[in-house]
Amino acid sequence: MEPKSTDARIQSKGYAAKDAKGVLVPFKFERRELGPKDVLIDILYCGICHSDIHTARSEWGRSSYPVVPGHEIVGKVARAGASAKRFKVGDTVGVGCMVDSCRKCDSCKSDAEYDCKEGGPVWTYNSDEKHIGGKTYGGYSNNIVVDESFVLRISPKADLAATAPLLCAGTTTYTPLKYWKAGPGQRVGVLGLGGLGHIAVKLAHSFGAEVIVLTTSSNKVEDALRLGADRAVVIGDEKMMQKYSRSFDLIIDTASARHDLNAFLRLLKRNGKMVLVGLPSTALEVQPFSLVSGHHVLAGSGLDGINGTQEMLDYCAEHGIVSDIELIPIQKVNEAYERIIKGDVKYRFVIDISSLR
Ligand code: NAP
Ligand code: ZN
Ligand code: ZN
Repeated sequence: MEPKSTDARIQSKGYAAKDAKGVLVPFKFERRELGPKDVLIDILYCGICHSDIHTARSEWGRSSYPVVPGHEIVGKVARAGASAKRFKVGDTVGVGCMVDSCRKCDSCKSDAEYDCKEGGPVWTYNSDEKHIGGKTYGGYSNNIVVDESFVLRISPKADLAATAPLLCAGTTTYTPLKYWKAGPGQRVGVLGLGGLGHIAVKLAHSFGAEVIVLTTSSNKVEDALRLGADRAVVIGDEKMMQKYSRSFDLIIDTASARHDLNAFLRLLKRNGKMVLVGLPSTALEVQPFSLVSGHHVLAGSGLDGINGTQEMLDYCAEHGIVSDIELIPIQKVNEAYERIIKGDVKYRFVIDISSLR
């Protein structure tokens, strides 16, 4: 959509990728003036999700530039629209992957706004901005304007920087663990110990499941145990992979790059489930025998709707679950991207937005 011209706008500054090279540079832009139900949020922290990198580099093939990534946002309400009821100035709040949806379709009416039938929800970045045209811009910035229905409550007592990653990595892992009933007596595998993976470990452990991390990085084994895993298996250690053959009830696959699904499907018990949450940009092949022989289920999952996301945030607050983070100034964001791609992050980078001011 082409930007529409109107008068009042809110001035914002952040970091944007200008093309598919994905290099982030300082960028000034405008956001819409508040509508009656909107809130203006001064952003304090924003997590860096691997999806930000996929989008900044157009790895999923549909990015529209400039891209201001960031959908793990925590901040304070700075101003509220005239009919905003849920939030007031000073409230501590979060914004995740979506900032709006049609609210009328059956998905929106059944707490599944992520599956909005009117062309999908309005994603926090790189979606059409319906009010002023152009694209939505995310949380690598000093402020954001969001309809209050898409804003989440955060306890002001929480460690706010470490809570930010829950807005995407938290909901994306809580949702399949809950749906597929991870719990006592279940052996849950977490493939990939990155941003999503390390939260999946904490959540599955808190649900009472036995948790085994499947990692390509032998240097993450100790951390896996510290984060709550019962064991960690290094992928490629054939003896170990053999030992765990046909033993998992559920595997949450968070891998961000191409991998052999069949090797992991072989680890499932009869009727076991493997759930893809990772979104590599290449196709993944499945041999029919990997599914058929063991009556296996291969499923996919993503973020939950707004109510489900709030439930996850409340659950994490109650159980003391936050992300293990490396807090960085925004000027280090390009370096952080390179380290994430190498699997060298423990376990989520979070941008301290005060570095923009
Ligand atoms: P991340 O922090 O980079 O973690 C990904 C981890 O995957 C890496 O740390 C690595 O763990 C493992 N990995 C990487 N390449 C691999 C390979 N070739 N084979 C096996 N494992 C590999 O990324 P993230 O932020 O957690 O995101 C993970 C993926 O989920 C991304 O594709 C992202 O776009 C997607 N995502 C999806 C949703 C959704 O709604 N479904 C939401 C958020 C993110 P080890 O070092 O332990 O091997
Ligand atoms: Zn994300
Ligand atoms: Zn809808």
